[in-house]
Amino acid sequence: MYRHLADDLAAFPDLLESTRRFAEQVLAGLDNRPVARQAAVVPPDPLPRAGIGLHGALDRFADRWEPGFSGSAGPRYLGFVTGGATPAALAGDWLTSTFDQNAASAGDSCAADLERETVGWLRQAFGLTDEHTGAFVTGATMSNFVGLAIAREWLGRRRGVSVAQAGVQALGDIHLFSGTPHSSIVKSLSMLGIGRDRLQLVPVQAGREAVDVGRLAEALDALDGRSAIVIANAGTVNTVDFDDLRAIASLKERYPFWLHVDAAFGGFAALSAHHAGLLDGLAEADSICVDLHKWLNVPYDAAVQFTRHRDLQVAVFANSAAYLGAPTDNPDYLHLTPENSRRLRALAAWFTLTAYGLDGHREMVERNIASARRLGERLPTIPGVRLLAPVRLNVVCFAVPGNVADAVRAIAETGEVFATPTVYDNTPALRLAFSNWRTSETDEDRIFAALHKALT
Ligand SMILES: *Cc1c(COP(=O)(O)O)cnc(C)c1O
Repeated sequence: MYRHLADDLAAFPDLLESTRRFAEQVLAGLDNRPVARQAAVVPPDPLPRAGIGLHGALDRFADRWEPGFSGSAGPRYLGFVTGGATPAALAGDWLTSTFDQNAASAGDSCAADLERETVGWLRQAFGLTDEHTGAFVTGATMSNFVGLAIAREWLGRRRGVSVAQAGVQALGDIHLFSGTPHSSIVKSLSMLGIGRDRLQLVPVQAGREAVDVGRLAEALDALDGRSAIVIANAGTVNTVDFDDLRAIASLKERYPFWLHVDAAFGGFAALSAHHAGLLDGLAEADSICVDLHKWLNVPYDAAVQFTRHRDLQVAVFANSAAYLGAPTDNPDYLHLTPENSRRLRALAAWFTLTAYGLDGHREMVERNIASARRLGERLPTIPGVRLLAPVRLNVVCFAVPGNVADAVRAIAETGEVFATPTVYDNTPALRLAFSNWRTSETDEDRIFAALHKALT
């Protein structure tokens, strides 16, 4: 065995302790670490010929790379929609790598059953029924991709062709409609060979990002009975608007279409009794995307995709080889998702759900919603700041005095808060998204003070 490898094997317990101490310091310093960093240029090192062992690697990492890492896992990083990692989620993630199970199939471990249990819990948390089965994927982009891949197969069935066998060109015309789709939907259409240009945007309601259901009905009506795919949005990134899922689902009585719902972070409204109504009708969807590395506060990379058409899912993703076994009534995950070998990414979710339960996760979600609402009330007291939409859930979208790029920079330079720019309704704007389990009222005060300083 190579010298450093043999030494590390012999010293494994000590090395784990060193790594744990390093992690402990990082977490203890999270509150003071700049929330975002200008990407510093780290000069590249050549490929190491001789190794330096894990202790050496820890030192090298701390020296070269760690100083440029941001505090994005902390309570005042409000860019995009990110979330952090709860203590139990972090422990689950460590143990995922410790056990290093391959959750592709069930032949040699019960790991895949742990994933099934976790998917079942999530299905309940989001108010779905037993008709929906699910699988873990790496993020909401992949969840949308998988959902739309199954939709594509469904369109084929309606037309008497197997897209999985014959290819997407066998489909002929493809009609897809959405009001305010996330960019990952458009990317998925590229990956699926359907094409970004095929997506038809349906007008939204006045002053909203939610689709005008009447206009959607007109678009479907114009197809004269041909089948389509409708992509509904439950939580848009700019203003967290929700399509009327119940009304869209009821159009199925008149028109044949597959209903995919992107509920990447909006799905977590289901945890709050006050907001669960926003998701009324979700259970009618044929496929659903929910991200977990955002508002469940598990580390990257985790999302879940649900569908009630697992037979079609297997048609798309079946991976048949003599040594892998054929799909059965309870197909292995390698027949359900793009990957073959797969990380047991359900374990972090299992840990956090077990440690804090639905009650604990409801408290996090409701606390984040309350923070967003209060900040939405305070922000307009800064001269020139105005909200561009009501705070519907966990995002505040607002216009600032002066140039948005300058505002983003000034805010980031405080080291206290990170916000991301957007354009909403033709107005350059900023958004602040609350989704971290740590964010407290003290953080709200620090956030407001930093914004006040940066914007005046
Ligand atoms: C974040 C997000 C996605 C993409 O999620 P990733 O995990 O970054 O791939 C898709 N849809 C919505 C609505 C999102 O907010």
